[in-house]
Amino acid sequence: MTHAVKYHPGMMLMEQYVAGTLSADVALAVATHIDLCPHCQRVCQDIHNDQADVLASMPLEQDDTDDFSALLAEITGQPQLDKPRQKAARELVKVQINGREFAIPRALSRLAEQQGKWLQLGGIATAKLPAGDKMHVSLLYIDKGTEIPNHTHLGLEMTLVLSGTICDENGEYGAGDLLINTPADTHTPHTRADEDCLCLSVLSAPLKFNKGLVRLLNPLQQFFY
Ligand SMILES: [Zn+2]
Repeated sequence: MTHAVKYHPGMMLMEQYVAGTLSADVALAVATHIDLCPHCQRVCQDIHNDQADVLASMPLEQDDTDDFSALLAEITGQPQLDKPRQKAARELVKVQINGREFAIPRALSRLAEQQGKWLQLGGIATAKLPAGDKMHVSLLYIDKGTEIPNHTHLGLEMTLVLSGTICDENGEYGAGDLLINTPADTHTPHTRADEDCLCLSVLSAPLKFNKGLVRLLNPLQQFFY
C-alpha cells in the first residue's frame, strides 16, 4: 500500500480507543484505521507507554513493572479483536464485488467473513456487517465515476477508505483515510472516473438526502441505513 494516510482519528478518539471506552462500532473503525496506518500504530504505542509510565511511577516491585505493563496493554488494547498472534496465522480475508476482489484489513476480517448479501443500486453496493448493536456498520462499494447524492448527516458518519479513492467537497481520501462527518456537515462523495472504492461505513443515524425527487431518494436512504 503506497498511499500515505492523511486523515487520522483525533487524539481524544485515540486515547479513548486505547482506554477501551469507545463503543464497539466506533472502536472497529479506529482499529481498522490503525491496521492501515503506521503513524497511528506509533501513537497507540505511545499512549500505552505513557499509561505504563504513570503506573511504573507508582510504588511497585521493580521486577513486576514489565509484567504489569504487558497486563495493562492486554487489558486496554484492541477491544473485541482477535489476538495479534492468532491473526498472523490467518489468510487475509477477501471480499468480492463487481468482478473485483479486495483484501480486508485484519481488524475487520472476522466481521467481513460474516458480511450480509450485497445490495446494489446503480454503481453503489452495500453489505451489512454483523457488528454493533447501536450503529449501522457496512461495507460500501462505489464503482468508478459514481456519485452519492448530496446529503446531510442526522448523526455520526464514519467512513474508512479500505481501497481506492473517494472525493468530496473537502478533499480526496485514499486507503486508510478516516472521514468523520457530523450533523453540521453536508457533502457529495464521488469516485474518480478511473478508480472504484471500497469503504467501511459506520452510521449512527440515517443519511438525509437534500436534492432530487423525494420519491427517488427515500428508498436510497433506506438503502444506506
Ligand atoms: Zn492514522
